[in-house]
Amino acid sequence: MNLERLKEVLEGMPAFREKQIMQFIFKNFVEDFDEMLSLPKDLREELKGKCSLKIIAEEFVSDNKDTVKALISLEDGEKIEAVLMRHDDGRNTVCVSCQVGCPMGCAFCATGKMGLTRNLTMFEILEQVLFFARYLKKEDSSVTNVVFMGMGEPMLNYDNVIGTVRMLNDKNYFNIGARHISISTCGLIEGIKKLAEERLQVNLAISLHSPTDEKRGAIMPVNAKYPLKVLVEALNDYYEKVGRKIMVEYLMLDGVNDTGEDVENLAKLLSKERFFLNLILYNPTGNFSPSKGPNVKKFKELLEKKGFTVTQRYRFGRGIKAACGQLVTEDKED
Ligand code: SAH
Ligand code: SF4
Repeated sequence: MNLERLKEVLEGMPAFREKQIMQFIFKNFVEDFDEMLSLPKDLREELKGKCSLKIIAEEFVSDNKDTVKALISLEDGEKIEAVLMRHDDGRNTVCVSCQVGCPMGCAFCATGKMGLTRNLTMFEILEQVLFFARYLKKEDSSVTNVVFMGMGEPMLNYDNVIGTVRMLNDKNYFNIGARHISISTCGLIEGIKKLAEERLQVNLAISLHSPTDEKRGAIMPVNAKYPLKVLVEALNDYYEKVGRKIMVEYLMLDGVNDTGEDVENLAKLLSKERFFLNLILYNPTGNFSPSKGPNVKKFKELLEKKGFTVTQRYRFGRGIKAACGQLVTEDKED
């Protein structure tokens, strides 16, 4: 599928025609131009000859069926991963990638080990949601939430990420409420500042993972450029402008960041009115061990005692390597 080409094809057409075709694709999730029956037949034929709507993907379904991973092949042969998580409460969350690989080099992340190959285009990001929109349509269901928590750093592909958010949000297309869309960043403050000005009600998530510069710097190279003081300042400004609580993602690494002292430092760093914590169990990628169950429980209780709202991330898709930090396209040479 090459939607960039579609865009070129549509450019010469009257606006109503362009809108009609875009709606077939991004609202009705039609998979073939032949199904666009309200278009003249010769136009359908012309479109078919110029671009394909087929998404080439390999699917992996977890044993309990709550997670589906799609390994999508792009036009240039690169591969990216997107994950569907079906929650018990009916939400269907799609986790999208925004880059092939990632240049940020976080020590705990499989994608980070790949380095960056390239940014995705807006349509390549949308294609991932579209894949699952089509998938779910077959069972009369739909994508309800989108999270930018797959491969890559959203703030390094800012315009295409925001373009995607606007398309997802658009009532004429996917019609997914901004409050159902989350962007996660490792802490690039230019992006956080720009996002604050967009006046979008999307959720911002920050991969904090440690409450001191020393500890954070040891596992996240980004901390050297943007230490915690400037990061938290930018986040506080964001909160003041947007008025929505910020999710702090906190990876629980055994003996690294899971002690009572870490709780004390978190409480000093963050205001409980502006931030809530999302504890993430580490999905092993080689370098660390996940915190032990009782330690996670204690950590959570201590934070709650400090007045923080704390949620714990459910681990989707471990068996199919679709869990957080495990997204890596191993079979690039295929
Ligand atoms: N680049 C962005 C978004 C993608 S990563 C960011 O870093 O925020 C999405 C989330 O998965 C981040 O919170 C990231 O820190 C987390 N993550 C990375 N590696 C992980 C691992 N091995 N186990 C669990 N979560 C991980
Ligand atoms: Fe990149 Fe996020 Fe992985 Fe860090 S955690 S390497 S920023 S994808």
